Amino acid sequence: MGTTTRVFNFAAGPAVLPLPVLEEAQRDLVALPGVGMSILEISHRSKTFEAVIQECEANLRKLAGIPENYHVLFLQGGATMQFSMAPMNLLAAGETADYIITGSWGKKALKEAKKVGAINVAFTAEADNFSRVPKQQELKLTPNAAFVHLTSNETIHGIEFHALPDVGNVPLVVDTSSHMLSRPIDIKKYAMIYAGAQKNIGPAGCTLVILRDDMLKKAQANPAYGKLPIMLQYGQHVEDKSLHNTPPVFAIYIMKLVSRWLLDLGGLEAMEKINIRKADKVYAEIDRTGFCRGHAKKEDRSRMNVTFRLPNEALEEKFVKESKAAGLDGLKGHRSVGGLRASIYNAFPEEGVDALVAFMREFERKNG
Ligand SMILES: *Cc1c(COP(=O)(O)O)cnc(C)c1O
Repeated sequence: MGTTTRVFNFAAGPAVLPLPVLEEAQRDLVALPGVGMSILEISHRSKTFEAVIQECEANLRKLAGIPENYHVLFLQGGATMQFSMAPMNLLAAGETADYIITGSWGKKALKEAKKVGAINVAFTAEADNFSRVPKQQELKLTPNAAFVHLTSNETIHGIEFHALPDVGNVPLVVDTSSHMLSRPIDIKKYAMIYAGAQKNIGPAGCTLVILRDDMLKKAQANPAYGKLPIMLQYGQHVEDKSLHNTPPVFAIYIMKLVSRWLLDLGGLEAMEKINIRKADKVYAEIDRTGFCRGHAKKEDRSRMNVTFRLPNEALEEKFVKESKAAGLDGLKGHRSVGGLRASIYNAFPEEGVDALVAFMREFERKNG
């Protein structure tokens, strides 16, 4: 295989990026047009980078319809840092936060939040091997909770909330890492959103945080707020426009290019149509006979991370090996759940989905 031949990359994250984005970054890597320096070499205080981060934010605001009373931040430490940072800022002494657990990432968020304050597990699907989201009546919500946290797409189990639960007036704090910008999003329903860039928005190294201003104000009114390390105070990042210290310049530059690519494509409505079509193709093949078994309950299936099993582990191993040889990379399921997983994010090409479906059919014909 030549060095410039691209395989179909089904990895869960870091994941496939739009080819035009990679090509533009490659073309301009040595010298940004009109600047004469690489994006990897410029100051984060330069006019050039200021324009990059401002355009990135403006594009994201346009794509997701982010209202003025929400701050947009570009932070480091991954979505994992937000597992701690969100409760450290938003959960005061004497308050309780509710956590809805539908997979491994929610479980990790819960573990960190418990170190910070009082947490109520409002629901967990662990007994069902994380194969579904809760029904409204299953939620054991705390009246006047500080916030409700959930993971709107569980990357490892392939579970997606297709509608948000009703939590009344309690603020919703949501980890949208693995499906951010894959579909239209009604920001007003959220008090805070966070998403590691490396699934659907860009490369590793940057986490997008969208925070409603009243949440910030409430955090800042808490006497304990000032004791937080400066890098863990949302307010400092708001004040410094994500430039309190050196931000991940290159990651933000790529996010700008990805957001442009999405706008050119027609925005999130257009992106969603493509994503539905892609996911439907794979799930139709999974359901075609009894050979494959989808992991998630049908109505909770993720459009981004398609998880499924074959009749036995030996066949799954064979599938991974042979699909890789056929140019379909990264189909092995996460080590904690096994089986197979096809991550088909925004940038994953539809031809790759067609190639996967054809491969699945042929694999079943030979081994079924
Ligand atoms: C990948 C992922 C994370 C962890 O992201 P990091 O940036 O590696 O910290 C958290 N939540 C979800 C839903 C993820 O998919």
